[in-house]
Amino acid sequence: MYRTHTCGELRLADAGATITLAGWVQRTRDLGGMTFVDLRDRYGITQLVFNMETDADLCQKARKLGREFVIQVTGLVAERSNKNTKIETGAVEIEVTNLEILNTSDVPPFTIEDNSDGGDELRMQYRYLDLRRTPVRNNLILRHKMAMEIRRYFDAHDFIEVETPVLIGSTPEGARDFIVPSRMNPGEFYALPQSPQLFKQLLMVAGYDRYFQIVKCFRDEDLRADRQPEFTQIDCEMSFINQEDILTTFEGLVQHLFKYTKNIDVQLPLQRMTYADAMEYYGSDKPDLRFGMSFKNVTDLLKGNGFSVFDSAEYIGAIVAPGCSEYTRKELDSLTDFVKRPQVGAKGLIYIKYSGDGSIKSSIDKFYTPEQIQVVLDSVSATKGDLVLILPGDKHNTLGQLSELRLEMGNKLGLRDKNVFAPLWVVDFPLLEWDESTQRFYAMHHPFTSPKPEDIALLDTDPGKVRANAYDLVINGTEIGGGSIRIYNDRLQNRMLSLLGFSPEQAQAQFGFLMKAFRYGAPPHGGIAFGFDRLVSLFAGLDSIRDTIAFPKNNSGRDVMNNCPSTVAQEQLDELNLRIEMRKPQA
Ligand code: ASP
Repeated sequence: MYRTHTCGELRLADAGATITLAGWVQRTRDLGGMTFVDLRDRYGITQLVFNMETDADLCQKARKLGREFVIQVTGLVAERSNKNTKIETGAVEIEVTNLEILNTSDVPPFTIEDNSDGGDELRMQYRYLDLRRTPVRNNLILRHKMAMEIRRYFDAHDFIEVETPVLIGSTPEGARDFIVPSRMNPGEFYALPQSPQLFKQLLMVAGYDRYFQIVKCFRDEDLRADRQPEFTQIDCEMSFINQEDILTTFEGLVQHLFKYTKNIDVQLPLQRMTYADAMEYYGSDKPDLRFGMSFKNVTDLLKGNGFSVFDSAEYIGAIVAPGCSEYTRKELDSLTDFVKRPQVGAKGLIYIKYSGDGSIKSSIDKFYTPEQIQVVLDSVSATKGDLVLILPGDKHNTLGQLSELRLEMGNKLGLRDKNVFAPLWVVDFPLLEWDESTQRFYAMHHPFTSPKPEDIALLDTDPGKVRANAYDLVINGTEIGGGSIRIYNDRLQNRMLSLLGFSPEQAQAQFGFLMKAFRYGAPPHGGIAFGFDRLVSLFAGLDSIRDTIAFPKNNSGRDVMNNCPSTVAQEQLDELNLRIEMRKPQA
């Protein structure tokens, strides 16, 4: 036996026992007569003590231990006089009688402490050392616990986990595919799944009724905005259900996860908001509902008074920042700079300060009487002490700008607490999205999403107005999951594909197998997929999904530890019947 206990296990009650531990040397402290070593493993840290008086040789040996040496020690558990209340083993130490060096270690390139001195790139190069750090390990343990709880919930609700293939034909989810050449079929390629979408629908045709899978998906996207080329979905599908059944089943999962991994009680049913309302009042299809500050439409109140910025605007929207009436010139200037940043894109910011003493000061005093301003304040429900911030412009862009401003104010006012969770469903998404540059419709969710039955007639007359039976789970301003009720009839599916610009031949070539399956008794079905990495990151209070993944890629899609992607040997290319010809960079 290498060890009798782990480094996180011993307590005062064990005092007097002779034990054996194995682990890594976190650090050594040499205090002349005594040498202390912190021994670490996955479970914790235990203090070892070596005494010059009792065994000088052993103590000398201990002094020479380097950081991250792997050792095995045997000794006596003793009560510590100087207890460390910060660690669970802090009441005891081990008076070592035998020390075995199992392996030495090079000096690690950064400190393996909670707050490491290693930069991002360096830690990723030595990810196996980074993974020894407690905060990183805790994220992976949380991830594991969540996966276990997900499986427990689904198993209790009659879902079965079915693995779907990784080498497939393309599944459109709106991103670029990663492709894999086939040696046995020269000139032909597999695609890696952007999601198991078509397979889970086929499992419904097969009568499996309730499916889930914790599954890797692959999308070749630009990696700004906290994405990874391979990521994990909790993928789900159900038969003989309507949208209501889906929302109920999966908000149950959300409640279960919060309860059993964070001990937080989530009240059901979750709030639901239509896509139209989310856009109108929060300027986003993923509103952060940890705080209020919804938008007020003040177009009619402010237009037509000779202030050209307002008179020419299609829409004028306001948010009320509580308790901010005493913002200084400098603070208002910095907010103005914020909205004028190219990423936000506003031309300027208009404010009304409604001071605690009832006095009113605004940047539009010249154009409006105090009475008119008071009407605006009343209509946006501002109270004394508030600051009203106003943006005018075309509606679509102004809503987006107000959304950025709202989030910025939420940050400034400390209203986006990571320990507060505000989940909601956003429902009734549009089926289609018009793209100006290509002059065609795209599926807002994906081409297998069913229109709302009451909107089907609009498919012919005004396709942009058709709403879908599609829904997103949003928590704290992040899309955590999304899904839809599916089309399950080949005629409607064909119609949808033709709206999306697929010729009958293309539709047949890409999705013929699905349409064929639909002719063999496809049940009504629908589903959802959650971004597992993102969910873990939210639960762990992290800013990035990277720290929830054991071996992530960097922003250029590289694994800097094993340096991939990389070139392959000529023989491999030959076997694949491929020749690489680099296209010259376009001028
Ligand atoms: N396949 C979809 C996605 O990856 C989810 C779904 O519709 O179930 O977003």
